Amino acid sequence: MPSFSVRPEIAALSPYVPGMSIEEIRQRYQLENVVKLASNENPLGTPPLAAEAIRRCAAGAFRYPQSGNPRLAAALAELHHVDARRIAIGNGSDEILDMLIRMLAEPGRDNIVCFRPCFSIYPIQSNICGVEVRRQSLNGDFSFDFDALLNLVTDRTRLVFITTPDNPSGYCPPRADVAALAARLAARAPQALLVIDEAYMDFAGDDADGERRFSLLANSELPNNALVCRTFSKSYGLAGLRIGYAVLPEELAQYYWRARLPFSVNVLAEEAALAALRDTAFREATLTLVRTERRRLTERLRDLGFSVWPSHANFLLCRPDDDGPDAKACFEALLKRGFIIRPLGSYQLPDHLRISIGTKEENDAFLATLEDVLRELDTNEHRADVF
Ligand SMILES: *Cc1c(COP(=O)(O)O)cnc(C)c1O
Repeated sequence: MPSFSVRPEIAALSPYVPGMSIEEIRQRYQLENVVKLASNENPLGTPPLAAEAIRRCAAGAFRYPQSGNPRLAAALAELHHVDARRIAIGNGSDEILDMLIRMLAEPGRDNIVCFRPCFSIYPIQSNICGVEVRRQSLNGDFSFDFDALLNLVTDRTRLVFITTPDNPSGYCPPRADVAALAARLAARAPQALLVIDEAYMDFAGDDADGERRFSLLANSELPNNALVCRTFSKSYGLAGLRIGYAVLPEELAQYYWRARLPFSVNVLAEEAALAALRDTAFREATLTLVRTERRRLTERLRDLGFSVWPSHANFLLCRPDDDGPDAKACFEALLKRGFIIRPLGSYQLPDHLRISIGTKEENDAFLATLEDVLRELDTNEHRADVF
């Protein structure tokens, strides 16, 4: 073996922990059917118009993509009523988040600010770059203390990350609070940008008007020192194709296109995204289903003895009540029966579980299985008491 060494940031890295895959669990437990409610994917699958576009364009897979993805940028600019020169497109919004850190923060000198817990890509990619991460704990109810967050900002802060609605809690701050945060950040640290990660924004609120009530972007009120990231992975049903976008200050968007790898978004992903934007029936069905099932699942989980946080996203954060079973035991018992949910040890929340909203049938099957699991765990506990 040749001797080699990696950079210390890489040697020390705790990698991103993804949800388990269906195939992995099928093989491990010899199961026919596995239901995955772990990665906040679209319960209705791939939009039909996107699947058709992928088939139609398959023969063009031998060509390089057109640089700058101009057709998709134009469609997104129209959707959000902004200039197309402000749109950045990436291989998932993950790529954009990573690029922002690499473009703006100087290793060993600058820092980023975010909450704890938060979407782990922000701290992980900063760690890889050798950029200091300054973190403010969430309030006990998972709401945001923006005053405390601002207190972590220094003259070396280049990016402040917030997720609205938040992952893993589903909490969504009022948009006036986000606007006030941006204004105070501009006054305190003119060199810093506020990153508003709106991966789940279209699920916000109880009805179709929710996005407009919660999003600065949807109201054309995006401040100059803020940017919004969105994704095709959730409500648009294209997680496996890897495509996301952001609305940025124009100058930064131009630097993004210069610095990004030239062909990181592949031709089929771009065609599928264009088709997904046209597939309004699919998207409306998704949003209606998620809102209806979110209400129902919240109530049923509470009936079964879980604390469930009010969610504005396509998942629920919950925790067995104090006299209930261990969260990890619940997760493992469900896994054996073919239901993958998300334990939150990697978010430092070992007593909590995150459950993605599935179809009505998946949720029914999940709830029935959960009832069995709770009964079994309860019996085991009583047995343990006796002996
Ligand atoms: C799912 C998710 C994203 C989207 O990631 P992609 O790379 O676009 O798939 C971004 N931010 C948060 C908080 C998420 O949960």
